[in-house]
Amino acid sequence: MSGLILQSITKQFGPFTAVKNVDLVVPHGTFVCLLGPSGCGKTTLMRMVAGLDLPTSGAIRLDGADITHVPTHKRDLGMVFQSLALFPHLTVGENIAYSLRIRGVGKEDQKKRVDELLAMIHLPGYAERPVAKLSGGQRQRVAIARALAISPKLFLLDEPLSALDAKLREAMQVELRQLQQSLGITTIVVTHDQREAMTMADTVVVMSGGEIRQAAPPVEIYRRPADTFVADFIGMTNLLDFETDGTGRITVLGTPVEGLVAPNGTARGILSVRPEDVHLTAPGNGAIGGTVTFVRDLGGTIETFVEAGGKQVVAVSMPNARPDVSVGQGVGISLNPADCVVLKS
Ligand code: ATP
Repeated sequence: MSGLILQSITKQFGPFTAVKNVDLVVPHGTFVCLLGPSGCGKTTLMRMVAGLDLPTSGAIRLDGADITHVPTHKRDLGMVFQSLALFPHLTVGENIAYSLRIRGVGKEDQKKRVDELLAMIHLPGYAERPVAKLSGGQRQRVAIARALAISPKLFLLDEPLSALDAKLREAMQVELRQLQQSLGITTIVVTHDQREAMTMADTVVVMSGGEIRQAAPPVEIYRRPADTFVADFIGMTNLLDFETDGTGRITVLGTPVEGLVAPNGTARGILSVRPEDVHLTAPGNGAIGGTVTFVRDLGGTIETFVEAGGKQVVAVSMPNARPDVSVGQGVGISLNPADCVVLKS
């Protein structure tokens, strides 16, 4: 298969295991985001793919070839790391052409490629500018162009947008994704920003404690999280303890949920329900009973906090479906079984 394959990759630093037995397939032309909290092993995994660290065990294959022990400069990679700054004394064009020059590409071809890349990153005519005169977003684009100059097989980026302000970061996420799609280049990005991962990736790989907790398309990660860590890490969710009767029927916050059944043999577990899937109704009629404790109007959405069975449940609504409730009011919580994810506790 063309693309990148990680086979049982483990990395130990002395007695500490930073990456544990990771298996991952990144098909050619796809965009993968490694996502997880600080210290989960994302950068360590990326450094092994880049050849900057050697795995303690396991193998890395790129387009069918075993590259586990191949040095970085022979891996055909384009890299944008947060700490890998542009050369400040060179112009934009000289920065982009750097790897072409050291590969002996002729002056004319260098210029042609630089112009092509500048057009691609929406900075045509910038070749002669000193990099010191660029904005943060422009520098990041130049760093991307520099990494792509050699048309690498694999494009690796570690927190590439984290130094940019929120608005620019969002715009650059869309740009980076569009660029990757137009080039069809296999790309891996390390990020701790879930919005960034959801915006750009074909596959989001959620890591924790050196292990992959789930690798799936963004919507699946959000709608069908594999465990409570993923459910809680991605977006907001309500994690509610449940128990079953002898037939698998699920009771949440003291009330049976009609139509919701746990897998065979499950006595108890946790239900993940996204706030937008919590529907507030009049009390009674089989709904879970609760009391409104707080309402937060964020403009674009309204969050209603409800205390039910000793737990806090959050419901999110759009302004045009604003629930007509106030603090202290008794309400019913109605859950659609299709929106509930049954997880092990
Ligand atoms: P962040 O988002 O903070 O960069 P990360 O998910 O990228 O975190 P890593 O940098 O991969 O995490 O680190 C994973 C774990 O391995 C951390 O506990 C870190 O302290 C440890 N670690 C990383 N590099 C080394 C090293 N060279 N020697 C010892 N421990 C290391």
